[in-house]
Amino acid sequence: MSINRVRSVAAWAMLAVGPSFIGGALQAQTTRDFEAEIEEALASAKAAAGFEFLGTLNRLCLLPASRGLDTSDELPRYVSDPSTIPPREAWYADAARVFDNLYFVGGRIHSSWALVTSEGIIIIDTIYPYNSEELIIGGLERVGLDPDDIRYVIISHAHGDHIGGAQILQERFGARVVMGESDWALVETYPNRYRSMAPTRDIVANDGMEITLGNTTLTIWETPGHTEGTLSYTFTVYDDGRPVNVAYSGGTAFNFNNETPDPGIQNFQSYIESQRHMAERAAEVGATVLLSNHSEFDNALNRNRMLAGRGDGPHPYELGQEWVQRYFQVMEGCARAAQLRLEREQAEGTVL
Ligand SMILES: [Zn+2]
Repeated sequence: MSINRVRSVAAWAMLAVGPSFIGGALQAQTTRDFEAEIEEALASAKAAAGFEFLGTLNRLCLLPASRGLDTSDELPRYVSDPSTIPPREAWYADAARVFDNLYFVGGRIHSSWALVTSEGIIIIDTIYPYNSEELIIGGLERVGLDPDDIRYVIISHAHGDHIGGAQILQERFGARVVMGESDWALVETYPNRYRSMAPTRDIVANDGMEITLGNTTLTIWETPGHTEGTLSYTFTVYDDGRPVNVAYSGGTAFNFNNETPDPGIQNFQSYIESQRHMAERAAEVGATVLLSNHSEFDNALNRNRMLAGRGDGPHPYELGQEWVQRYFQVMEGCARAAQLRLEREQAEGTVL
């Protein structure tokens, strides 16, 4: 990093003493202090995260970058060799009633949610094929709901930790499955990768699509980035009859082509624009709750435990509108820092 900076400064110095006909645009580009811009983006993400979104900050700004785009079609280990399925104690979590009409039916790491309506249940994200049976189907039963009432399964994106139970729920309960076009295409392109978790193509989501079941409507927003077809949502839940609006963020880590300026810069731009899109939709509905499909991002597991001791206190999931906005600022700030590193790489490649 420091070597790169020295190179930038050296390039600037050469231009500064060079002929005056050197274009302003080129000079402006080479005099950019990328290090300072990266620091600024990281600082804005850290400030936005506060003590509330440390998991998201950690994943996106601090840990090494996630694995890039997966183009293999291999059977997952847990499918080809069931002895590699993690032990139950590694993933089991109790189901919980979080709001009047929203239940947590996920695990210790990955979340699944049941939105209960007057005409049946909407499942928001599934988990792995090996634990959907116990956590989603079993979880519904343990909280007194009937899995036969599942009508829709909405998948935020086609990774094994979220699509894992979609085929099971479609086959067993005739649930309609909703997913983004690009992610349906992934399922169809990689039959081995999705073995035992590939629902038959059903509803293709688009931006602003409303899924209405009985008295409940969930609105889908296209937020490409994590995968090209990643979906996020807004919907209303009730806390002892009081309406509370939720923004659901459907894809987080940088699991896309991000190793090289082309197409990494554009991919980060698409990711950043998706976070702005969701921040605006969240503001529009006055969302005060931020949900995700990983507990490390929305602290679902801890909040479920806090529910038990709530008494007359505030709802542990209800952060307020400002904090919901700050969540998307964390995502944007970390993505911008990573994008700037690629922009620096590209600028240096052009000049030297
Ligand atoms: Zn994913």
